[in-house]
Amino acid sequence: MSYDYDLFVIGAGSGGLASSKRAASYGAKVAIAEYDLVGGTCVIRGCVPKKLMVYASQFSYMYEYAQGYGWGEVEPKFDWNKLITAVDTEVKRLSQLHISFLEKAGVELISGYAKFIDPHTVEVGDKKITADKILIAVGGEAVKPDIPGIEHSITSREMFLLPEQPQKFAVWGGGYIGVEFASILKGLGSDVTQIIRRDLILNGFDEDIRNNIQEGMTNHGIQFLTEKVIKKIEKTDAGLKLSFKGKNSKSITVDALLCATGRQPNLAGLGLENAGIEINKKGAIVVTADSCTNQPNIFAVGDCTDRMNLTPVAIAEGRAFADTEFGHQPRFITHENIATAVFSYPEAATVGLTETQAREKFGDNIKCYTARFRPMFHSFTGSEDKVFMKLIVEINTDRVLGVHMVGKDAAELIQGVAIAVNMGATKKDFDNTMGIHPSSGEEFVTL
Ligand SMILES: Cc1cc2nc3c(=O)[nH]c(=O)nc-3n(C[C@H](O)[C@H](O)[C@H](O)COP(=O)(O)OP(=O)(O)OC[C@H]3O[C@@H](n4cnc5c(N)ncnc54)[C@H](O)[C@@H]3O)c2cc1C
Repeated sequence: MSYDYDLFVIGAGSGGLASSKRAASYGAKVAIAEYDLVGGTCVIRGCVPKKLMVYASQFSYMYEYAQGYGWGEVEPKFDWNKLITAVDTEVKRLSQLHISFLEKAGVELISGYAKFIDPHTVEVGDKKITADKILIAVGGEAVKPDIPGIEHSITSREMFLLPEQPQKFAVWGGGYIGVEFASILKGLGSDVTQIIRRDLILNGFDEDIRNNIQEGMTNHGIQFLTEKVIKKIEKTDAGLKLSFKGKNSKSITVDALLCATGRQPNLAGLGLENAGIEINKKGAIVVTADSCTNQPNIFAVGDCTDRMNLTPVAIAEGRAFADTEFGHQPRFITHENIATAVFSYPEAATVGLTETQAREKFGDNIKCYTARFRPMFHSFTGSEDKVFMKLIVEINTDRVLGVHMVGKDAAELIQGVAIAVNMGATKKDFDNTMGIHPSSGEEFVTL
C-alpha cells in the first residue's frame, strides 16, 4: 500500500521538530502538522521566554550588589511592556527560524489541528493525509483545579502575555514552573506569595535542595503560605480574593494568580480512539522504550508520554526514534542521570539520584558529602545568599550517584558535572580533579 508520506508528525515542538528533520535527513518523505506557532512549548511559552524573563529579573539584585563593590546607587526603573514586547519579538523570530530549518530539511509543514481517522490516516482541516508511520509529539498543557472562580487565574501560557506587571502576585503550586515565576516576579519588583500544599516546594527534588531554595527565596522576600489549598477565587474591586480551605486561614487579595498546579498530555481532540492507541491512568500515551505505542506504526515522544518532561529529553527521544525507524540505527535513550535545573533565585541544578532515592536503592551503603558557604562574590554585597553543594556516593563502589547544587550558575556547573556522573565517575575521580581557583565549582572536587 502506498501512503502520502513515510512519516507524519503531529506537533511542531521540541520532539516533533527534531524527529521530523532527522527522519528527512535519511531520505524519508516527511510532513509535520502544527496548529499554533511552530516551536512548541519550549520556544513559544516555556524554556526560552521564561529564561529571558529570568535574566531580566536578576538585574535588580546586581544593581544592589554592585554598591558593595563601589558602584553608585542605581534607581531601578523597570518597563514591563518593553520586556514583554522584546520577549514576544524574539519568540516570533525563533519560530520563523524553525520554519526555515524545516524547509531546509525538506519537511513539509501543514498548518492546522491533526486528528486521527484510523492508524494510518489523519485529518488536518478538510485534508485527509495517509502515512506509513505517524509520530505523536503533541506535548502537554497546564491543568487547573476545578474550584469556584478558577477562570480568574492564569497559567504559564498567559504569563508571557500579561499587559501589565501584577504588583501583588500569587503563585499556586510548588513545582519548578511556579517556583521560577515566583522568583521572576519578585526580581522584577512585585510582591510575591507562593501557596503550596506541602511544607516545602519542589516535591521530588533532594530534600536539602528544597530546603535551601525555599530558604533563599524567603530571604529574598517571597512569602510562602505552606500546607494551604485555595478554596475559591473571587473577583473584587481590590483584586482577586483568594480564600483557603481550613478554619483559621485568612484570605489574601492579589492582582494576579498563576495557577501552576500541574500539566497533562495534550490529547483531547486528537482522536486517539480512532487509531486504538492506549493511554495510561495519568492520561499519557503508553509507549515502549523505543517510543512505540500499542499500534506498531504509531510512535509518541516528549511530554505526551509523560516520561521526563524536559526539552532535551523530547529531542533525544525524537532523534532516537528517527535513527531507529529511518536510519537503520536502532537505539533508545535511558531516562537516568538526566541533569535538570530550576531557574529560581537562588538557582538550583541536579543530576542523578536524590538522597532519598539513593537510600531506597542502596540502603546504608551511601555517603553524602555537603558544603554550604558564602560565595566569594558576596564578600562585599551584604547578601546572605549561600551556595549549597551535595555529592551522594555509593560506598562500596565509590561511584557518584547524585550531584546537587543551589547557588549562582548552578545549571552551568551541573551540566559539566553531569558528563562525569554519566560516565560513572567515582568520588576519587572528583578528588583527583584539580579545582579552578577561585570559583564555587572547585568545592565539588574538594568535598
Ligand atoms: C513554563 C514552562 C517552562 C519550561 N521550562 C523548561 C526548561 O527550562 N527546560 C526544559 O528542558 N524544559 C522546560 N519546559 C518543558 C518543555 O517545554 C517541554 O518538556 C517540551 O517543550 C516538550 O516538548 P514536546 O515536543 O513534547 O511538546 P511541545 O513542545 O509542547 O510541542 C507540542 C506541539 O504540538 C502542537 N499540537 C498539539 N496538539 C496538536 C494537534 N492535534 N495537531 C497539531 N499540532 C498539535 C502544540 O501546539 C505544540 O506546538 C518548560 C515548560 C513550561 C510550560
